[in-house]
Amino acid sequence: MAILEPVVVAGSTISKTTLHNEDFIKEKDLKIGDHVLIQKAGDVIPEVVKVLKEKRNGTEKEFEMPKKCPVCGAEAVREEGEAAVYCIGIECKARNLRNIIHFASKEGMNIEGLGEKIVEQLLENKLIETIADIYYLKQEDIETLKKDGKKFAKNLIDAIEQSKNNDLDRLICALGIRHIGTKSAKTLAREFRTIDNLMNASLEDLALVEDIGEITAKSIYEFFKQDQTKDLINKLKKANVNMKLLQNEKTDNRFEGKTFVLTGSLEKYTRDEASKIIEDFGGKTSSSVSKKTDFVLAGEEAGSKLTKAESLGIKIISEQEFEEMIK
Ligand SMILES: [Zn+2]
Repeated sequence: MAILEPVVVAGSTISKTTLHNEDFIKEKDLKIGDHVLIQKAGDVIPEVVKVLKEKRNGTEKEFEMPKKCPVCGAEAVREEGEAAVYCIGIECKARNLRNIIHFASKEGMNIEGLGEKIVEQLLENKLIETIADIYYLKQEDIETLKKDGKKFAKNLIDAIEQSKNNDLDRLICALGIRHIGTKSAKTLAREFRTIDNLMNASLEDLALVEDIGEITAKSIYEFFKQDQTKDLINKLKKANVNMKLLQNEKTDNRFEGKTFVLTGSLEKYTRDEASKIIEDFGGKTSSSVSKKTDFVLAGEEAGSKLTKAESLGIKIISEQEFEEMIK
């Protein structure tokens, strides 16, 4: 935002305008202390049209994007090809709400009952401040948030307790490292086996992992370098949250080297469940059909993927056939 000396434009007083991002500021050659020409774009949001350079007197200062987050002091990162700058502090107060919601979400630690609304309430009532505080919540605290909240509180405490036994990939995904989703979290968990190994991995180690590109490797590396990350991991360890790969050494790799594509809905499994079975047997799943696909598992109402598989001559299996294969 540009903070302006208040001025009346088209009937309303304007004291702020959007500056979008760092590039916009550079492009307009804006300096702190400048006079600017503004307009209301579409007559609503005021914006800077241009700098009135003739009004400069030499006291104007160059704007520099902060290198550290002004709220928490963690690194502020701008990635190649992106306009925005992000704070990567996992315990940052300005990002807490979103960080905690993501941590508890289905892709993350899957803590049922800990949705956006409850997280908001917990923060407002100062019952939690950072992610780790979730694991120190007491049933009595949660009960106060809802009318007749006893049952809800008990269920939530149970769900939180249960999440301590999650496998490593869930924890990795829950941390909300930029560019890391469920799939790459799984890869990282398999590759590094403990959070400490991942935390101590060099940039080179990370970049060598299959499917982890340079930008992602850098994002993981930067994330684990932050004091806030180390602090959070330590607190989670103290709360007995699982920090290592639980999957036993795979003994049955019957699907090794095989790629499956799932389409349509299955009767007995969700897509995630079926994918997990395939992966547990050493196979891979992909979202699109290609020549490299070995099997298309087709459920009810299978669509274009099925047609494509047929045209490529790829083996199509039914749910029943799949069940035979995994017996
Ligand atoms: Zn921050």
